[in-house]
Amino acid sequence: MTDCIFCKIIAKGEIPSTEVYEDDTVYAFLDINPVNLGHTLVIPKKHYENLFDIPDTELGILGTRVKKVAAAVKKALKADGINVSMNNGPAAGQVVPHAHIHIMPRYTDDGFRHWQGRRGYHNKTEAEEIAAKIKNAL
Ligand code: 5GP
Ligand code: ZN
Repeated sequence: MTDCIFCKIIAKGEIPSTEVYEDDTVYAFLDINPVNLGHTLVIPKKHYENLFDIPDTELGILGTRVKKVAAAVKKALKADGINVSMNNGPAAGQVVPHAHIHIMPRYTDDGFRHWQGRRGYHNKTEAEEIAAKIKNAL
């Protein structure tokens, strides 16, 4: 896609990046604005907007590469843990519309907190209704 930042990074030349890993299907590079040093993005080389657009075969390959790169990030940066996350859609915080998976090294006392907007179910019935809706949509 011509006006996509990440396609331009993959094409190499137009927008530089710091490569971490590359093969026929995926490219991995350092996030320009890291949560912690070593924060890496893994992307499919073909342009897909989000998780739902990626064909299952490519998604399978992407998953194995995420695991490989995440293990390397953890080892290299001596991280205590790793967050693997993917924002799908602007409402979920996706800014760049080329599917990408974040690999973020984490440390016991790095101070980041997740899911601060947590909301509980009012009761078991409400939880079961929500689960049923999801099951019906599968
Ligand atoms: P999103 O919010 O879409 O899930 O995350 C996009 C990520 O891409 C952000 O963490 C941002 O720092 C990173 N990013 C945006 N533009 C560039 C760029 O030109 N180069 C690199 N290396 N990372 C970028
Ligand atoms: Zn793209």
